[in-house]
Amino acid sequence: MDVKVNKDVCIGCGLCASISSLFQIGDDGLAEVVGVVNADNEGEAQEAKDSCPVQAIE
Ligand code: SF4
Repeated sequence: MDVKVNKDVCIGCGLCASISSLFQIGDDGLAEVVGVVNADNEGEAQEAKDSCPVQAIE
């Protein structure tokens, strides 16, 4: 599983970063992926994806 943030869609709400340390808000105020999805964190990655209000996480 690969994960990325579509910055054209992200509104920088910070929800994904609060759910999973795979995400952080970058200098541009938008989310970015800072880790690699693995068996330990793919559940929270999926939760962040499902929780994003604008479906910016792919
Ligand atoms: S939850 Fe979605 S809109 Fe909010 S910061 Fe993360 S990727 Fe962006």
